[in-house]
Amino acid sequence: MSKVTTRFAPSPTGRLHLGHAASAVRAHDFARTRGGAFLLRIEDIDGTRSRPEHVETILADLQWLGLGWDGPVVFQSQRLPLYEEALERLRGMGLLYPCFCTRAEIAREVAASLSAPHPAAEGPDGPLYPGTCRALGEAERAARLESPHCWRIDMAAAVARTGPLRWVDHGVAQAADPLAHGDVVLARKDAPASYHLAVTVDDAAQGVTDVVRGQDLFAATHVHRLLQELLGLPTPAYHHHALVRDAQGRRLAKRHGAPTLAEMRGQGVDGRALSERLRTGQSPD
Ligand code: GLU
Repeated sequence: MSKVTTRFAPSPTGRLHLGHAASAVRAHDFARTRGGAFLLRIEDIDGTRSRPEHVETILADLQWLGLGWDGPVVFQSQRLPLYEEALERLRGMGLLYPCFCTRAEIAREVAASLSAPHPAAEGPDGPLYPGTCRALGEAERAARLESPHCWRIDMAAAVARTGPLRWVDHGVAQAADPLAHGDVVLARKDAPASYHLAVTVDDAAQGVTDVVRGQDLFAATHVHRLLQELLGLPTPAYHHHALVRDAQGRRLAKRHGAPTLAEMRGQGVDGRALSERLRTGQSPD
């Protein structure tokens, strides 16, 4: 059996909060208590939102929390050829199509569909893409490829190809339902691979055996499982955990004015003691 390997994979688009700390502690401890490896991956493919100064802060936060990682820090921005190769394979299977719709056009289309016989379905992140560009002919696609576009997966065709899929979460089998996400975007001009594609490729490339992350990413696993199957990649075991909430039940990461880890560090809070409180489930406040 391969060595237990987990990862913490923050996006450097802002400062980390207690919710991130709780997730990092869990992923770290899961590996360490099993003699395994804990990896750190910086998910910085969103060039418009990622900031190098946040990377520095993340590394300092983890050291302050007493969470050491194994091997070099991996940056997704340095792995774009890997994602391009995966995209190329999916394209070769005839499962991707270019989409030229702007956000405003999609919103109009969705609004119009609400009074039509087949209204756009709701997905985990809002109304699903209505599929406008899926219907374009080859000639029109080719003629428009110079104009801005992203690449979407034809989810119905992909699901028809894989058949039913499952993954195991906390030891319990889950039926994957990627269709509930519709034709998700797998690449854009400003982000050459989507979160879904990059995570799937990297978890496999880094030998991640166990994905320990917040419940907010449970829904995304439906898509990740599908991509694993299409690309012939192994499926890790998943351990989605409850999100840290305050006494009022609000997610700490989202609470207005919740202190960042960097602020707590600056105020002289003991990071290792904080990790201990998160481990024992005590209120971090
Ligand atoms: N980069 C993602 C985030 O910060 C997490 C990715 C993952 O754990 O799969 O929300």
